[in-house]
Formats: sequence, C-alpha cells, structure tokens
Amino acid sequence: MVSPGSPQLEAAAQIFRRSLERHRLAHAWLISGGEYATLDRFASGLAKILNCQSPPQVSDDGVGLECCERCVSCLQIEQGQPTDVSYVRPEAKSRIITIAQIRAVLESVHLKAYAARHKVVIVSGADRMNLEAANAFLKTLEEPPGDTVLLLLTTNASRLPDTIVSRCLRLHLGGAATKPDSEDHEWLTEFCRLCVESKGDTFGRYFLVEHIQGRLARKKKVIEQTMTDASPLNAYDDLEPDLRKRYQQELAAAIEAEYRRQRLELLALLQTFFRDVWLQKIVPDDSLLQFPDLAGSSRTLVERLSADAARGNIEITDELQRHLDTNIQELLAVEVALLKFAL
Ligand SMILES: [Zn+2]
Repeated sequence: MVSPGSPQLEAAAQIFRRSLERHRLAHAWLISGGEYATLDRFASGLAKILNCQSPPQVSDDGVGLECCERCVSCLQIEQGQPTDVSYVRPEAKSRIITIAQIRAVLESVHLKAYAARHKVVIVSGADRMNLEAANAFLKTLEEPPGDTVLLLLTTNASRLPDTIVSRCLRLHLGGAATKPDSEDHEWLTEFCRLCVESKGDTFGRYFLVEHIQGRLARKKKVIEQTMTDASPLNAYDDLEPDLRKRYQQELAAAIEAEYRRQRLELLALLQTFFRDVWLQKIVPDDSLLQFPDLAGSSRTLVERLSADAARGNIEITDELQRHLDTNIQELLAVEVALLKFAL
C-alpha cells in the first residue's frame, strides 16, 4: 500500500492497521498532510486494505491488514473504476465541494454494496466543502451506514469546521518532513516539561504563554535583523525618496510573511507534540512517535489525560492557527488557546 519510507506515513498506516486488528475501526478519519498526491495515494491504499480479496497479511482472526495490489478489488481501486470506493473532489472551476456533490455520494453510500466489505468515501480537499456541503455531511459523519468508512483528506485542517473535525479520528502524514532545528527542539522539550509541571493551573499556563511568546519574539527579531541587513535600503545611501519608501514597504511585507511562515512552523511543532501525546494514549508504541525522545518526559501528561482530552489538544492548535489567520491579536489568541489546553 503506502510505500514505507516516510516514518510519519508508516506510523499513520500502523494506527489504521491496529484499529482494524482490534475491531475498533473508526468510521470517519481526517487525514492531513502536505500534498494531495501523497494523501490520495495513502487513502486509496487504505481503501484497498479494507477490501482486498487476498490480503497477504491478516490478523489472528482473519482481518486483512495489507493489500495484495493484484486482486480484482485492488486493481479496480487502483484504476479508478466504479467500485464501492467513491471520490469527491472540488469542482474544477469553483474549487469548491458543493452540497450536490455530497448528496450524490451519500446516496450511493446508502445503496447496496457491489461486492466490497466496506464502502469507502474519499473526500479529497475536505476543507473545500462549503458550509452547506459540510452540514449535509455531518449527519452521515455521526452515523455512517453499515460498514462505510469516510476518509477526509486535507492539506489545511485548520480550515475545517470544528463540528467535522471533532467527529473524525485524526491522522497526520506530515508535510515536507522538516525536522525542527536544535533550538526549536530544545524549546519543545522545555514546553513539554512546563506542560507536565503546570498540572493545568492558571499560573503554570501563563508560564506556557510566556514560553511561546518568548520564542515568537526571538524569531521575529532574528527575521527583522537578517532581512533588514539584506535589504537594498542598506546598500545605497542616496535612494530617491519614492524608491526608498517602496523598498521599506516591501521589506515590511517580506518580514511579516516570513514571520507568519515561521509561526506556522512553530505551531505545527506544538501540534505534533500533542499528536504524540494522543498517540501514546491510544497505541503504546514509542516507535510511532515523531519525538520518541520526549516520550519519557511526557508520560505523566499522557497518564493524566483522557484520549478525548488528548485529541482535543490537537484541535485547539488548529483553532489557534485559524484565529491567527483572521488577524486576531496574537497574544490574545495564544492566551485563549493556552487556557483551553487539557494539561
Ligand atoms: Zn488485493
């Protein structure tokens, strides 16, 4: 199925297999990652596993955990032939998934299955559902008929409504798999320690706010310095006033854009940390973690939280990113999130 290689892909596939093995397969999965090519391939790999007719790897009680890529079912899914696997994608022109598309696919789900054990609906670009479409989808998401499995794919989970996100089991395939630099990693280690120590009291939470704000302020300062140093404003003393003004505006915009990019990266790091905490809650296998070195120090946190609370923290980081996108004052957005985290 999914080619191993990326540890995050392999970890995500493992979570899926284990839930199959334990007969605890969630009906709705939200799978996020950096690019649709990978997400689509991963999702059709899961659809194949669910329906493969001669699985090369099975659980003790005969549930298929791998696909053969050769049986009729695997080949039909691979070639995109009409099967019990349906795809929904944004319309080419509007780049939106409409309520009509969602209704059509839901109707097909309620019809009798062709041959498959599981009907699978893959919504590629789930964040492109408009509000009507998302609402139409909600009910099915709560109670999918029979053995239907819904796979929602997105490169931007923060754009999905909470009502959808909270009803799905979350898998993250990772983006360009950038490892944090050592300074960020050190920062994350300290964040983990502060989370454990805070025990959720207000005082402890404000240490965490300071910890995040401090890192962001430091990043901003470095960006301002390096970009200003490299600006043409620095190279010429005798610039025309108009040109000088234009350069200044360009510099300010470039600094802002770079800062936002780095802030997003830092939030992604936080989210990965909370994903690891949640993962430790549901699958006791440290080799699946993105930061296995933090497993020891985050254990107390893992023990304190319920699985739902641990998953909630992942959603709170999404919400924080969404708030920052809408230009809510940064400090306020961070404070709101930090008061909400289950610690
Ligand atoms: Zn097969």
